Amino acid sequence: MPSTPKFRRVLLKLSGEALMGDQQYGIDVATVDRIAADVREGIQGGTEICLVIGGGNIFRGLAGAAKGIDRSTADYMGMLATVMNALAMQAALERIGVPTRVQSAIPMDSVCEPYIRRRAIRHIEKGLVVIFAAGTGNPFFTTDTAAALRAAEMSCNAMLKATQVDGVYSADPKKDPNAQRYESLSYHEVLARNLQVMDASAVSLSRENGIPIVVFALKDPGALAAVLKGEGRCTIIEERT
Ligand code: UDP
Repeated sequence: MPSTPKFRRVLLKLSGEALMGDQQYGIDVATVDRIAADVREGIQGGTEICLVIGGGNIFRGLAGAAKGIDRSTADYMGMLATVMNALAMQAALERIGVPTRVQSAIPMDSVCEPYIRRRAIRHIEKGLVVIFAAGTGNPFFTTDTAAALRAAEMSCNAMLKATQVDGVYSADPKKDPNAQRYESLSYHEVLARNLQVMDASAVSLSRENGIPIVVFALKDPGALAAVLKGEGRCTIIEERT
């Protein structure tokens, strides 16, 4: 009998770079397969999971704009990159028997469903993994903000932000050996100290909706399942009373 999960429903935010593995660019199928297996383990533990995946492994709007592409156009290109990542994750999950739907904020009927909130909730209730693609559908936003938005719309109990390290640190632990790791933080502390966890609009949106942000390292095997049970190493960002 599996132990009761700490969270009934979560939104997992992966950066596009999480799909690169050791590559410098693009999608490493073995890495996507490993993450898919982690997601399946999480579902088997009794948590409903939906996903938002970034696009930074393929294209970032700001980088395109720096090279002279009009910013809005570059951002739409970035959103299309997230759709490619969503399809790669869908394929990986379905290879291991996890039913999924991709819903895109930019309608693309031949490729995936359009984003329809009530339909997404129905899919999740039936045990499907819903992957939200194309961010918010608007330029000048990020997939972090899209993740906070979808987490609120789906009434998630937490937003899980997968990173390279096992939580939030006072400085980059790869560069500063004295960097201090936090067990918990308030939204205000993250914003006031300008801690680089998620962009400020994502943190503010989560704060307004009372959705805790759980920051953890995805690369550690079993890390996702542990966090979902309330056991893993992570930093929890939530309102302090
Ligand atoms: N993007 C956008 N609106 C959104 C989400 C994403 O315009 O609502 C674009 C933006 O150009 C961004 C790119 O998509 O650079 C990829 O997303 P992001 O940088 O958030 O990906 P990550 O850093 O998580 O891989």
